[in-house]
Amino acid sequence: MVMIRNLSRSLGRSAIAKTLLSPSNSRPSSSSSSAHSAIPLLAPLAGQRLRNNSAAFEPEFRDTTTSTTRCLHSNASLGGGGGLPSSMRAAVFREPNKPLTFEEFHIPRPKSGELLIKTKACGVCHSDLHVMKGELPFASPCVVGHEITGEVVEHGPATDTKTIARLPIGSRVVGAFIMPCGNCSYCSKGHDDLCEDFFAYNRAKGTLYDGETRLFLRSSGEPVYMYSMGGLAEYCVVPANGLTILPESLPYIESAVLGCAVFTAYGTMANAAQVKPGDSVAVIGIGGVGSSCLQIARAFGASDIIAVDVQDEKVQKAKIFGATHAVNAAKEDAVGKIMVHIKALFCYFLLHMMQ
Ligand SMILES: [Zn+2]
Ligand SMILES: [Zn+2]
Repeated sequence: MVMIRNLSRSLGRSAIAKTLLSPSNSRPSSSSSSAHSAIPLLAPLAGQRLRNNSAAFEPEFRDTTTSTTRCLHSNASLGGGGGLPSSMRAAVFREPNKPLTFEEFHIPRPKSGELLIKTKACGVCHSDLHVMKGELPFASPCVVGHEITGEVVEHGPATDTKTIARLPIGSRVVGAFIMPCGNCSYCSKGHDDLCEDFFAYNRAKGTLYDGETRLFLRSSGEPVYMYSMGGLAEYCVVPANGLTILPESLPYIESAVLGCAVFTAYGTMANAAQVKPGDSVAVIGIGGVGSSCLQIARAFGASDIIAVDVQDEKVQKAKIFGATHAVNAAKEDAVGKIMVHIKALFCYFLLHMMQ
């Protein structure tokens, strides 16, 4: 995505939060996203087959457990403490360009400052696809999936009372793909997105911040690494700093992309580009992040919002998300069209996410 804007007045951040948290705005975000589509998991969907709304991604799954269904719903008996099952299933990546496999795990155990989440939905992000295609090196075997919604079912031992009060048992939550440690030099300065521990341990090693995974196969005890929280699983362990409450008004499935596509777009618009009312904005590449950028630009009061993509379907849907103009760069002179609509200008080359 490339964004071009001009400058104008400022707008309070509460406006964007309000817009993003309204059901009417959350729905189109996920339905349009080619790289981010949410997979429903667990109880409300027991018996349904795993499904994927993405036109760009048709995952194959090989079920290595004894169940005859491909749904991630568990039939595990309730054998763990606190009424939790003793095992769960998750989709495991073992080698590039091979199907993910459904495998049985011991129920993951959260440590201090971590929560066990019963996963309700998990998005499929292009980052997951990069790992699965071998384009993004990552420890394997691993469980991918980093855009989750779910329910808090357990706090790790010695978790502080403030965290327990903020995220009590039974809370509906949404997870962020960056799970800040809260203690490193960047986190202490408020730059959670640069968290040293997250990148040193999770992205580099597939573990949480004590250097260990929380995922172990039930049959052999083999450790399995975690891409963020390893969300394509019935349960996942998430550090408390990577979770926030999901309001009752927001559905689990459509909200799963909030923690990756939407917050990436929010950071782009609010922090990097600092879009203000009256600005002109061009968003190039209308995938999960780009379609969220359009909605956020609209919420920030941008006047000209130009969407550019090379696929007719995305160009057509762009106006639903707030674009005032939409251009198919494969058929039209995108630069010329943008220059017609934007008069002033600062160019910000933020991300290149043409999809
Ligand atoms: Zn993502
Ligand atoms: Zn940190």
